[in-house]
Amino acid sequence: MKTEEKIICNICGKVISEKGAIPTADYLHVEKEWGYFSRKDGQKQEFDLCESCYDAWVKTMQVPVTTQEVTELV
Ligand SMILES: [Zn+2]
Repeated sequence: MKTEEKIICNICGKVISEKGAIPTADYLHVEKEWGYFSRKDGQKQEFDLCESCYDAWVKTMQVPVTTQEVTELV
């Protein structure tokens, strides 16, 4: 969840990043605008997850997430 001052993990409530501070952790940000074929047509939803909650979440999936090694472009 993103507020003016900080980003909070929606699952555990941990502060992931505070405004003005150097980011020390990466996190998942999801934004979804639901469309006509959903029951949430016209709604936009957003959430943020810290890495450990992300890891716990993907472990509950029947099909594992795909992983690729990426080379960082500097
Ligand atoms: Zn968390």
